[in-house]
Amino acid sequence: MREQYYKLTDATIMMVDDEPITMEMVQVFLEEDGYNNFYLEEHSSRAIQSLEEVAPDILLLDLVMPEVSGFEILSAVREHSRFKHLPVIILTSSSDNESKLRALDLGATDFLAKPVDQSELRLRVRNTLAAKAYTDQLVYYDPLTKLPNKQMFHEHFEWALKRAQRYKEQIALFNICLDNFGRINASIGLNGGDAILFQIARRIEQMVRGTDVLAHSLPSENMDMKLFRTEGGAFLLLIERLHSSAEAVMIAQRLLQLIRKPLQVEGKDIYPTVSIGISTFPDEGKDCASLEHLANNAREFVKKDGGDAFQFSSQDINTIYAKRLGMENRLRKALEKNEFILYYQPKIDIKTGVIQGVEALVRWNRDGNGLVPPNDFIPLAEETGLIVPIGNWVLSEACRQLNRWHQTGSPKISMNVNLSAKQFQDSQFYAVTKRIIDESGIAPPFLTLEFTESLLLNNIEDKIKQLQQLKNLGVKLSIDDFGTGYSSLSYLRKLPLDELKIDRSFIMNVPDKSTCSAIVSSVIFLAHALDLETIAEGVETEEQLRFLQEENCCQYQGFFCSRPLPAAELYQQFLSPESKKERVESANAHC
Ligand code: C2E
Ligand code: MG
Ligand code: MG
Repeated sequence: MREQYYKLTDATIMMVDDEPITMEMVQVFLEEDGYNNFYLEEHSSRAIQSLEEVAPDILLLDLVMPEVSGFEILSAVREHSRFKHLPVIILTSSSDNESKLRALDLGATDFLAKPVDQSELRLRVRNTLAAKAYTDQLVYYDPLTKLPNKQMFHEHFEWALKRAQRYKEQIALFNICLDNFGRINASIGLNGGDAILFQIARRIEQMVRGTDVLAHSLPSENMDMKLFRTEGGAFLLLIERLHSSAEAVMIAQRLLQLIRKPLQVEGKDIYPTVSIGISTFPDEGKDCASLEHLANNAREFVKKDGGDAFQFSSQDINTIYAKRLGMENRLRKALEKNEFILYYQPKIDIKTGVIQGVEALVRWNRDGNGLVPPNDFIPLAEETGLIVPIGNWVLSEACRQLNRWHQTGSPKISMNVNLSAKQFQDSQFYAVTKRIIDESGIAPPFLTLEFTESLLLNNIEDKIKQLQQLKNLGVKLSIDDFGTGYSSLSYLRKLPLDELKIDRSFIMNVPDKSTCSAIVSSVIFLAHALDLETIAEGVETEEQLRFLQEENCCQYQGFFCSRPLPAAELYQQFLSPESKKERVESANAHC
């Protein structure tokens, strides 16, 4: 079943036959007509399970198979609550009328003789699908909005829940209802009301299909959204494979924004708004009926409160969300209010004890009420897309500061800046980074950009291209928190890297824990083999430092030498002429 009026060639065609060659031939014949969704199953014992997973529009079924016969499969299909009406074309080499009669009795839709004749096949498949599309339209689609209707929703929802239970996934159900629909109908007439509903459906669909260009920061990986029209001014949006309720919040916010844009209907300006009630599985409800009921109640609550908003059915989630929203609003304004500051932590050469560079670490001085550490606001900045302007500010401020230090004649140290994986998704990322570096006046080799392994989770080849582009600017690249993510050492060779930072969680346990010590030693060994600088993060004790010295680690950062410091203090302690004497002394101590 498709989620909207579909082209026949979009149909999913499933075949069950113990001879793969027959299925492949059928596929080749049908591909010539433009069909491109096929599922071939050669193990008849797996037929029903595959059917449930694939949910095809038509089944081509062989009768004589060794494990489970086509007759048995056909009767199981006809008894199946979801597939009892599925068109089944029987492929059989037997001209034996008795088998045909038996298959007809069991509910076969049509027959095709083996070996399959191409034109016969095309005709039967096309006619069967056309008949199915027509009945589906009547039964499953809303003629006004062209969206699937409540009937389709119920059938789909039941299966979506079963799937979510099996794979332990989350689901959100949005009940979206146009505010003041009755009043709109009264003022512009029923035709006008219909036109509005049609346009609202298209706006929601834009987001569901990912064609809403402004929703670039919306979570999309693996998530699946389906929209249904239920009754009056109401729609249901089913979101499968949701990762967190925070994602549902983002989607709801984007929907409200999309729908709020004015509409011109029958010569009048209409300012539509909707009320959205959300229920989630498994947190708030466990079955279809309760989830529908909860989303409906939450929507009513929003409506009574004036509409143009959303609400979860659970109070707990609402409270968390309200806090988050407050924080997001403050974070949005923080850039304008100049509330971010950079601290700098020195990177020390392990052999000489001399400062080699610093890492810029952002802090948020929220309303002048003390510093918020990055771990408390970077995740939210990433989810909301605010990391892009914040990251740009960090980069330009860090480059500006480095240039100033270089101008004062202090030692020519380097600057490390952290990049979030989200920044790489921004289409302007490369151009803006290049501009910032050009305008800062620094020599690019003094800048090192840090990224984490999470960047490499998907589209690795594209990411490598992006990294190579950055590298061509003349900057250095570093992999941060190494060992905490997707730690396949083999991909390191493919990356245009200069530096590898060993995560604090390993350093913390050296030299006491033998496994950590072994990991650290082999990472350093590997990095040397790949010609990479190694930096140990989070060195707090002399024993740790000694261990790293013995293992030939190049540099370290950590409280043992210094916490991150404001620019002036960093200068005082590590770069100013007065600090020189101390530097030499500490260098000697190391040697
Ligand atoms: P990171 O890049 O791995 O930075 C190192 C973190 O470890 C810093 O925490 C630093 O203060 C802390 N640290 C350093 N030495 C020690 C030590 O000896 N002991 C302990 N316990 N901690 C130590 P911070 O500044 O809170 O930053 C946390 C993370 O936030 C950073 O981890 C980085 O992933 C992220 N972050 C910071 N600034 C930025 C930024 O400008 N952009 C982005 N995207 N992320 C940032
Ligand atoms: Mg870092
Ligand atoms: Mg790190």
